[in-house]
Amino acid sequence: MSSYKAPLDDLRFAIHDVLGAEALFARLGYADANRELIDAVLDEAARFTETVLAPLNQVGDQAGCKFDPATGDVTPPPGFKQAFQQFVEGGWTGLTNDPEHGGQGMPALLGSAVTEMVDSGNLAWSNFPMLSHGAVKALETYGEDWQKEVFLKPLVTGAWTGTMCLTEPHCGTDLGLLKTRAEPIADGKYSITGTKIFITAGEHDLVPNIIHLVLAKLPDAPPGAKGISLFVVPKFKVDRDGKVGERNALRCGAIEHKMGIHGSATCVMNFDGAQGYLLGQPHKGLQAMFVMMNTARLAVGIQGHSLSERAYQNALRYARERLQSRALSGAKFPDKPADPIIVQPDVRRMLLVQKALVEGGRLLSLSAYSHLDIANRSPDAAERERAETLVGFLTPICKACLTEWSIENTYNAVQCFGGHGYIAEHGMEQLARDARITTLYEGTTGIQSLDLIGRKTAATQGAGLKLFLAEIEAFARQHEGDAALAEFLVPLRAKCAEWGKLTLDTVMRAASNPEELGAASTDYLFYSGYVALAYWWTRAVAAANASGHPQAFKDAKRDTARFYFARILPRTLAHKAAIESGADTLMAMPAEAFGAE
Ligand SMILES: Cc1cc2nc3c(=O)[nH]c(=O)nc-3n(C[C@H](O)[C@H](O)[C@H](O)COP(=O)(O)OP(=O)(O)OC[C@H]3O[C@@H](n4cnc5c(N)ncnc54)[C@H](O)[C@@H]3O)c2cc1C
Repeated sequence: MSSYKAPLDDLRFAIHDVLGAEALFARLGYADANRELIDAVLDEAARFTETVLAPLNQVGDQAGCKFDPATGDVTPPPGFKQAFQQFVEGGWTGLTNDPEHGGQGMPALLGSAVTEMVDSGNLAWSNFPMLSHGAVKALETYGEDWQKEVFLKPLVTGAWTGTMCLTEPHCGTDLGLLKTRAEPIADGKYSITGTKIFITAGEHDLVPNIIHLVLAKLPDAPPGAKGISLFVVPKFKVDRDGKVGERNALRCGAIEHKMGIHGSATCVMNFDGAQGYLLGQPHKGLQAMFVMMNTARLAVGIQGHSLSERAYQNALRYARERLQSRALSGAKFPDKPADPIIVQPDVRRMLLVQKALVEGGRLLSLSAYSHLDIANRSPDAAERERAETLVGFLTPICKACLTEWSIENTYNAVQCFGGHGYIAEHGMEQLARDARITTLYEGTTGIQSLDLIGRKTAATQGAGLKLFLAEIEAFARQHEGDAALAEFLVPLRAKCAEWGKLTLDTVMRAASNPEELGAASTDYLFYSGYVALAYWWTRAVAAANASGHPQAFKDAKRDTARFYFARILPRTLAHKAAIESGADTLMAMPAEAFGAE
């Protein structure tokens, strides 16, 4: 089984030394969130995830969820229900939610650090509470007063859980194609009929009621994505006073057998005239859906990152213990039968790629959440607006890069174990299988890339990029005379100038050929992610140098940053060349020329 120890030192470094969370939280009016409380929350989350969730990780993978076709019931793996009860009792489900709805009112940045630990501990389990966050956000934003009154508290406190029912067999990315229907019936209610697939936590016995947020079309819906509405459809009917009634006409028809996250229930959900309520305006469901999805996209970025962290910890331990061969420059441990593999340059390459992407990725993700806190709480409207633009810009980068890197990281970790990584005993292959979903759900990497280059960049004249580049330039100016940072600041500034020009050139090309944006999109996203990480590695070195950490800690940050700049940042050169090559080589060949059927 793979082991897990919460990376409290690096989390504290990121939160306190790099992001200055205590001062930020005080400025935003989070009166209680001082350093002492932040550290206490981190300690307790570490204890819970290490002792309760992590030991269930392999159990969940091996036992999976059980489906009873006679009743439609789904039973999660052994221990999941008890762990959920403990999570609820600890108040973790509502850590960052409004106290008015039963939450603890903590900042999103702190919540995201806790989520990282929960996800590392047990990703499949974490999906049961995770989907409630999107439902809460949609209800807070679009719910009528009575809907907030009735549904928010049970969802926030973990008495009930939520789902997001978007996907249908014939439509995933293109939700405009959906066929689920909603007919108005008496008392402002609607009758929902249709089949949704791949619904995470669609059915389970962890809580007595499940609140499904379902996309469907009303009879007078315009065609396509403009005709989608959003409905609240409980497993057990709930009236406007909050009274829970009979079982609703919906049921799980099957669960999927899948590559990873076996402990997470992925359900086919059949709605057969189930009663529900409209959430928000008719035909405006897509807007509400994006409120849910944006929350979920950042959260899936953390999922990817969390698996990278767990995989790296295990690969590092193994590389220090596994004795094979001698170092190329002569034996380092002559008293042992062989040297540990960590002396080999190629093993170090795999470890350092993981370390650089994990610790840098942590800063990328936490910083996006710090912008979210500013967007939610700053007393200055202009600052709130800027932060919102930055969150929008950083969301596809976090979601896609952290999840794609999780595939690279977990595969590198398996590779460090050699053949022992491929067999189940060490749990490394589970991490690689579990990571695979993160680039797919909540919008594939391709869709995140189009969002970044299209909606977030071309359509806004680069508003988010300009703000992010300005943030980097302000940091660079502040550290202009710092000799210890010059080796990073000079190439970082050059990359930022290149990023701006590359963006402009690509968007200009797209003006005469709409396929150019799609052709550039994924390379552009990775390019952006690697430059963003160069910034966060530079800030990590600056923060480490200014901190009271031991010299060895400072040296490790500097050495990892050097590795990043020398061996990972140059990946941008290949991405830039691919972007500049344009759409022609992708689009020239007719579809039938790709090969025989
Ligand atoms: C384990 C699991 C859990 C899930 N949980 C949920 C859930 O809780 N709720 C829910 O509603 N859904 C859920 N999903 C569904 C998931 O969000 C979709 O699978 C995903 O959005 C992709 O849709 P699709 O599978 O239909 O792929 P398609 O949309 O058919 O895409 C296939 C490929 O084509 C690409 N593609 C499609 N359109 C474009 C385009 N316009 N431009 C560029 N590339 C494009 C995609 O990037 C992808 O590579 C889950 C899926 C899985 C496997």
